[in-house]
Amino acid sequence: MFSLTQDPIDSSSLTSQMSNPQAGALVVFEGLVRNHNEGQAVASLEYESYSDLALLEAEKILNEARSLYDVFEIQCVHRIGHLNIKEIAVWVGVTSAHRKDGFKACQYVIDELKVRLPIWKKEYYLSGDATWVNCQQCSHTHHSIAKEDYYEKQLQISEIGEKGQKILEESHLFVIGAGGLGCPALTYLATAGVGHITLCDADRVDPSNLHRQTLYQKDDIGKLKAPIAAQRLSQMNPHIEVDYCSDRLTAENIESLITDFDLVLDCSDNFTTKFLVHDYCYDQKIPLVQSSLYQFEGQIRLFDERSGGCLRCTWPEEPEASCTGTCTQAGTLGAVAGVFGSLQALEALKVLLKIPTTEETRILNLLTFESFSLVQDRDLDCPLCGRSATLIPFKKENYIRKVKEWEVSDRSLQNLRDYEWVDIRLPEERKKETLPQPALELPFHRDALMPLEPYTNLDPNKKYLLVCSEGLRSRMLAEQLRTIGFEHFYSYGLD
Ligand SMILES: [Zn+2]
Repeated sequence: MFSLTQDPIDSSSLTSQMSNPQAGALVVFEGLVRNHNEGQAVASLEYESYSDLALLEAEKILNEARSLYDVFEIQCVHRIGHLNIKEIAVWVGVTSAHRKDGFKACQYVIDELKVRLPIWKKEYYLSGDATWVNCQQCSHTHHSIAKEDYYEKQLQISEIGEKGQKILEESHLFVIGAGGLGCPALTYLATAGVGHITLCDADRVDPSNLHRQTLYQKDDIGKLKAPIAAQRLSQMNPHIEVDYCSDRLTAENIESLITDFDLVLDCSDNFTTKFLVHDYCYDQKIPLVQSSLYQFEGQIRLFDERSGGCLRCTWPEEPEASCTGTCTQAGTLGAVAGVFGSLQALEALKVLLKIPTTEETRILNLLTFESFSLVQDRDLDCPLCGRSATLIPFKKENYIRKVKEWEVSDRSLQNLRDYEWVDIRLPEERKKETLPQPALELPFHRDALMPLEPYTNLDPNKKYLLVCSEGLRSRMLAEQLRTIGFEHFYSYGLD
């Protein structure tokens, strides 16, 4: 809650209102009117505000602080009108489980309020003079680096120059995923000066992300990635605008999220998102740069109007999600993700700057440095770009997967207790996350020759819930067992 007031701020009454029994810390900041400023003796001061805008912007700042730090409640009051020495000009109160988050959120709020609110301060001096004071110099050094200095080195490149820089500045990009590929891609797009970036990621920072997702730090563990990434990118380059969405991109929301962008970068790690985004961008004629990784190997491809064929020419149907490994199961190395994320940023910059690039899928093995390219001709029977395409125009119904009746989605423990649990995760995953109830631990690996006896020998009169982290491996295994007649297996994903 943020409010503006003409009346003196009563700190103790505001503090007493912040009483969350779960809170381990209450951090209160009082900004006071002092009797001097820059060598002048101050007698009193006056705040004038553009109140409607100030209220809107302040709520935005409070929301940002809430998503960046683990806090219960943030309250803030700003004085306007005439103030005397020692009176409270701004009051911020934060309750949190731990003091660290409370301090950080409090500092974030006060720093951002000082530079972003349309509130102006006039100082009255003992000498009888008065002057309007620029508050920005008291806080951040926003925009203190001149653009020509920031971009000096890339302005020297003939393909960019001032004209190219202007094009980048006017571009608006949508980036899906702020993970292994997204972090390097976003970093180089932001620092190259892409004027407006919208990033979309619903995940929270996990300890296992930090070795490759360089926009995050140890203190970010457990927090949403999207607001942190947006904040770090804005700090790297103060000349651009970065906004974010922390919802998962789905068939339901893609039409409202991806509108009017010059290019989309797909840094996601799953087939469902890749096919959805690909088909939608094809329909909307938005250039798309996709990349994917598998251990030391990766591939990158640009889809735009010049493309020979589309993704559906190669894969008319979306492959079962379980047919390749995600990072959880396949493993991934930061430097490899860094290379391909940077390549994605580079391809995007080339498209925006109209620098010719390839239409082929480039595949690069970083272990051997072997590289090859795949040329995909247009398939006349392609369901998206073929003669009688069924997926155009875009319809969200085509992308909502029908959940099988044996895929358990009721997450209530009461329901889940009806099953015997079978944990099919890797030993290291088991160590990291304990299941909410005891489970039989059985081995699983993605291999057609995997012996199924440990499963088929289980009591056929019981219902077994195969559990993995994302629900992909369990789905694959349940399907496999059901195909050979063992219909007492069910699938469940923890996430
Ligand atoms: Zn096609």
